[in-house]
Amino acid sequence: MTNILDGKALSLQIKDEIANEVRALTAAGHRTPHLAAILVGDDGASQTYVANKEKSSAEVGFLSSVYRLAENIDEAELLKVIDFLNHDDEVDGFIVQLPLPKHIDEQKIINAISPDKDVDGFTPINIGRMVLGQEAFIPATPKGICTLLQRNNIETEGKHCVVIGRSNIVGTPAANLMSRKTFNCTVTMCHSRTRNLPEITRQADILIVAIGKPEFVTADMVKDDAVLVDVGIHRIPDSSKKSGYHLCGDVKHSEVDSKCSWVTPVPGGVGPLTIVSLLQNTLQAYKKKYNL
Ligand code: NAD
Repeated sequence: MTNILDGKALSLQIKDEIANEVRALTAAGHRTPHLAAILVGDDGASQTYVANKEKSSAEVGFLSSVYRLAENIDEAELLKVIDFLNHDDEVDGFIVQLPLPKHIDEQKIINAISPDKDVDGFTPINIGRMVLGQEAFIPATPKGICTLLQRNNIETEGKHCVVIGRSNIVGTPAANLMSRKTFNCTVTMCHSRTRNLPEITRQADILIVAIGKPEFVTADMVKDDAVLVDVGIHRIPDSSKKSGYHLCGDVKHSEVDSKCSWVTPVPGGVGPLTIVSLLQNTLQAYKKKYNL
């Protein structure tokens, strides 16, 4: 039987937990946690992501603010905004929505974020702390994957976890986290130069797919009863839909799902947990600041 790793339902439950904690903190006289975002340019997908982060912040009782900057802003100006937020005592954590315009050095911008406010967990300091197993802000999407597996009591110890994709924000941290003592998986990481990909993915007890290609993973690549986590999200033009598109993941769910013991749906799987992880990281930053 195929079970659903229901990210939507779990995200509502965790948001409730966060909201309760925020209510208790403010009732005890503490200030309200505050998450800020920097949005450069007017990319449609980035605007949607930032709007969702604002909405979710409000739902749990956080303050939120968005710094909307012009597409042609130069690097020095953007660095000034980051410096301002690094020093703003009213802001507990902030994110820089990626991707940035081509003329800006993304890594330079990430490196400028204070590790104490880096709630996306993208700075070298936080990645380093994560790899060493120290207290860190864990990047939101891999953290969301971990939460989905843990809260659904998925058995991971000694299992073979195959991760497809080695991006800094998803595949690489996900592979690291699954190998650590919390999960105790044996991990194989696959990427664009991997040979015989289906041969490897068929060995996966847990398959995490973060490849960025619509419906790339097909039934012949997945073993029976695998746990399948599909990180991909794509808008596919579709004239039969009012919106003009439908969403799909990196996995061809119509043929793969029935083989699996657990699957994440798209949408409603990893996506909602990504935003929740960002809220959890913000609360973590806030509590650390005040030793709560
Ligand atoms: P990316 O493009 O940065 O990385 C893709 C990875 O896939 C690369 O490491 C590459 O080596 C690997 N790859 C490409 N072609 C391959 C092939 N033929 N065989 C094996 N490996 C191959 O993407 P990303 O930022 O990691 O995102 C992956 C997907 O997840 C995208 O669809 C993205 O939209 C989605 N995403 C979703 C969320 C969410 O919250 N749901 C968050 C982040 C990313």
